[in-house]
Amino acid sequence: MDHPISRALTDVGARLAAAEQVAGRPAGSVTLLAVSKTFPEPALRAAYAAGARQFGENYVQELTVKAAALADLPDLVWHFIGPLQSNKTRPVAELAHWVHSVDRLKIAERLAAQRPEHLPALNVCLQVNVSGEASKSGCTPEELPRLARAVAALPRLTLRGLMCIPEPTPDTARQAAQFALLRELRDQLVADGLALDTLSMGMSADLEVAVAEGSTIVRVGTAIFGARDYSHS
Ligand SMILES: *Cc1c(COP(=O)(O)O)cnc(C)c1O
Repeated sequence: MDHPISRALTDVGARLAAAEQVAGRPAGSVTLLAVSKTFPEPALRAAYAAGARQFGENYVQELTVKAAALADLPDLVWHFIGPLQSNKTRPVAELAHWVHSVDRLKIAERLAAQRPEHLPALNVCLQVNVSGEASKSGCTPEELPRLARAVAALPRLTLRGLMCIPEPTPDTARQAAQFALLRELRDQLVADGLALDTLSMGMSADLEVAVAEGSTIVRVGTAIFGARDYSHS
C-alpha cells in the first residue's frame, strides 16, 4: 500500500496538471510547494520519498528544528512563508532558500545582512495584501513599487516575485480578481524593469483559480498532509 501522503501528492499533482492544461499553460510550469507546518519529521520524509523537494514552513522555530532533522536529505528546498518578525530573521537567512513573506524593507535589510556569504543569494517574494483586509499581512499595492525597487537593490537577495493570501471566499470570481491583481502588479514591475519570474499564489482550496491567473508556485498543505492540529502548540 502507498503511504497516504504519497497518494495525496499524486492527487494534488493530477489537480495541478489538469489546472495547467485547462489554463493552456505548459505542463510542469507550476511548482508544487508542500506546506508542512505543524507536521512532524516522518510526514516530511514520506513526502520526500514520494518525490516532494520543496517544503514550506511558517514558524522560525519549526524551520530550525526540521532543517536540522532533515539535513541528510539532498536537494531539499526550504521556503519560509509565514509572518517574519525582525528579531527572528537570522535562522531564516541561514536556513531558507526562499522567503515568500517579506512585506517591509527592514525585514529585507536584515535578511540581506544576515545571509551567509558562502550561500547563494536568498530568493525573496514580496507579500502583497490584495484583499485590503486590515488584519492581513503584506504591503499595500501602493507601497509595492517603492519596496520592490529597494529590495531589488539589496545584496545577497534575489527578488523573484510576489506572494498573496487572498480573502477566503466561496466566490471564485472574487478570488480570481485578487489573483489577477497580483499578476497585474507583477507585470507592472516587470514593465518597469525588474526581472520577476514568480507568482506565489494558490493553496489547497483554490489552486485551480490561481493557476488560471498565472501562479508559478502553489503552496499546498492540507491537501497533501491532511488537517492541521494546533492543539499541541
Ligand atoms: C498554511 C499555509 C498554506 C497552506 O494552506 P492549505 O490550505 O493547508 O493548503 C499556504 N500558504 C500559507 C502562507 C500558509 O500559511
